Amino acid sequence: MSKMRAMIVPEIRGRFRMEERELPEPGRHEVRVRVHACGVCHSDSVTVEGLMPGLSYPRIPGHEVIGVIDAVGPDVDGWNAGARVGVGWFGGSCGHCGHCRRGDAFACENIHGATGVTRDGGYATHMLAHASALAKVPAALDPVESAPLLCAGITTFNALRHCGAKPGDLVAIHGVGGLGHLGIQFAARQGFRTVAVNRGRDKEDLARSLGAHAYIDSAANDPAQALQAMGGAKAIIATVTSAEAMQAILGGLGANGTMMVIGAVGALTVNSLDLLNKRASVRGWYSGTAADSEDTLLFSQLNAIASMNEIFRLEDAQAAYDRMMSGKARFRVVLKIDL
Ligand SMILES: [Zn+2]
Ligand SMILES: [Zn+2]
Repeated sequence: MSKMRAMIVPEIRGRFRMEERELPEPGRHEVRVRVHACGVCHSDSVTVEGLMPGLSYPRIPGHEVIGVIDAVGPDVDGWNAGARVGVGWFGGSCGHCGHCRRGDAFACENIHGATGVTRDGGYATHMLAHASALAKVPAALDPVESAPLLCAGITTFNALRHCGAKPGDLVAIHGVGGLGHLGIQFAARQGFRTVAVNRGRDKEDLARSLGAHAYIDSAANDPAQALQAMGGAKAIIATVTSAEAMQAILGGLGANGTMMVIGAVGALTVNSLDLLNKRASVRGWYSGTAADSEDTLLFSQLNAIASMNEIFRLEDAQAAYDRMMSGKARFRVVLKIDL
């Protein structure tokens, strides 16, 4: 077989189109992955809608990829054909620039951009990836069910373990959606006193079944006051897509509390008094590197943490994307990719 198939975005705001291409050969430091599954993430709209300057088209989106290495390029150490691998947003790192040498590979000065945005991603039977972008995937994890752990999973897992809270501390997961339903599971398993915050009561039972110890209906109650009544949050993991909603809950931080912003909402207005009186902070969080992905996958396997998914065929990527963008999917959308 010398061809691959991909669902491409032909131009900004174009509709997805199936394209058959020659199977690409991996370049130096690259491998080729036979893709088994790829999650459909809200960040794919960056590619579809051209939300970053300088993007080029056609482009194959997809940054929640699980597959198997089927070809290894020159100068790749430590990886062999047949290895089960995952690729996330992180596109790789050079290993020798100032940031890489100081342990900040996510900010590599030489390898920029993101999988499925500035280079082709996983809405395809095959893709190329930089070897430094590869995460080992435990054999026990189902590739289709686990694909969202490579973005929604790593982002919440990693934000939680860097949020400054310790076991027993009050941590709020703001938003019970694609990110939040994983965030609740990770927060509870990481030992935090976990409170889920969402509008309405329809997701309360689910949130509690995923491990939330308490639930706040942010439509019926002031979420900041509700958190203060519980002692104030050591951390708020803000997964929502509304700046107003984030602003409304910020006052729920307790002393030395941190809001970890992982939902992209554009400009955010912060009351400085909310911060300085409590020595509180608002911090953004990048999803993570390939090593962080491995930690996420292993932690998920050991603690039986799973994404709830709706599965589509590669050919139906447009329907899958539309479903994800509708906000109605429960909770992640995944493409299952057969040859
Ligand atoms: Zn994503
Ligand atoms: Zn670097």
